[in-house]
Amino acid sequence: MIRTQVAPLPAVQAPLSGALGLVLAEDLRAPADQPPFPASIVDGFALRAVDGDRPRRLVGQQMAGYVADLTVEPGTAVRITTGAPIPPGADAVAMVERADEADGWVTLHSGPALRPGEGIRAIGADVQAGQQVLTAGQTLGPAELGMLASLGRAAVPVHRPPVVGVFSTGDELVDPGQPLAPGQIYDSNRPALLAAVARAGGQPLDLGIIADQPGALEQALDAALARADLLVTSGGVSMGELDLLKPLLARRGQVHFGRVRMKPGKPLTFAALPALRDNGAVDPDQSARPIFALPGNPVSALVTFQLFVRPAIRRMAGHAAVSLPQINAALGHEFRLDRERPEFHRVTLRREGGRFVALSTGSQASSRLLSAAGADGLLVLEQADGILPAGVERPVLLLDDLWLSG
Ligand code: AMP
Ligand code: MG
Repeated sequence: MIRTQVAPLPAVQAPLSGALGLVLAEDLRAPADQPPFPASIVDGFALRAVDGDRPRRLVGQQMAGYVADLTVEPGTAVRITTGAPIPPGADAVAMVERADEADGWVTLHSGPALRPGEGIRAIGADVQAGQQVLTAGQTLGPAELGMLASLGRAAVPVHRPPVVGVFSTGDELVDPGQPLAPGQIYDSNRPALLAAVARAGGQPLDLGIIADQPGALEQALDAALARADLLVTSGGVSMGELDLLKPLLARRGQVHFGRVRMKPGKPLTFAALPALRDNGAVDPDQSARPIFALPGNPVSALVTFQLFVRPAIRRMAGHAAVSLPQINAALGHEFRLDRERPEFHRVTLRREGGRFVALSTGSQASSRLLSAAGADGLLVLEQADGILPAGVERPVLLLDDLWLSG
């Protein structure tokens, strides 16, 4: 259902400095040979291989960055540095460690004869003009950005990463840094979800805390539908009296699903609402905006984000691989299964003799953020009656670049 509602966003030009982690939208070819001139691979002496081991007269030097007016005639040599253009007449470069220079003469040490071409990087040796160097769909990392810069490109066509609006709902919520009145709690979902959006490759848009009032919620929704490609809310989707979001979504658009058989995260709701213009009118040129209304409990919000929202963000950003990476791990102790729902149990992982071992982060109460803080992954436990013994293997979805101690 989610896949039918989200598609890769169109291409935009991004400067290289802003393109890290974005997805290339077009195949790219090299406009010119690399190197564009025959270049020395070493510091040494440019010379003619055919002159053998007789001493050569030094006629000048060629450093990197310009072209000296020098020609290597028979019996001569030019002092040269790495990356400098090979002077006409030379067909090899002897590295400085293989030669002695004295009184304007260069003598090669005894050893294997220099072969023509030795010490020289030919035109196009690294990349040839017209060669395809990057493929649409590739994620731009340091090497890809360096490659683009080496071709002289300052900007690159990428899929625009989605703007992801995030608001929290709840009359009890207060921003951290403020004092708490009786009955209030801090809004922890918004900072956590904004960070999760950024890490998933979206552009986070902070839309604040919204009160549990139909008018306030609808206003927040309208603002979000005009500004965000995708909307993530938390709270207000369970069965309580002030869980007002789901009926509002149903009235304004289409609720694709409103419950998921999983632990934690049962109230997860996915809807799509028409995009709005700045003046509040429906924008028929834009596709419907996907909306994830996440449960209010902090762990449920984060787990459902990783399993449902992250893939949607990554798909919009053009990634082909959208799911969390998965490994198998042996249970480090017994795990009780849930009879009603499959469970995504937060675990830490350690390496033990070539395999991964998963250990529970403790109480899995969906309010207990400590079960998620420091977790390496989500252990996938099937819905069943009973207990899994230590040692059996189950899949673990990795939450981050895996940082395993030991
Ligand atoms: P709800 O789904 O709105 O009924 O919220 C479920 C539980 O999560 C309640 O205990 C809320 O107080 C709590 N909760 C809801 N939103 C947040 C939030 N943004 N930060 C921390 N806790 C929250
Ligand atoms: Mg609430």
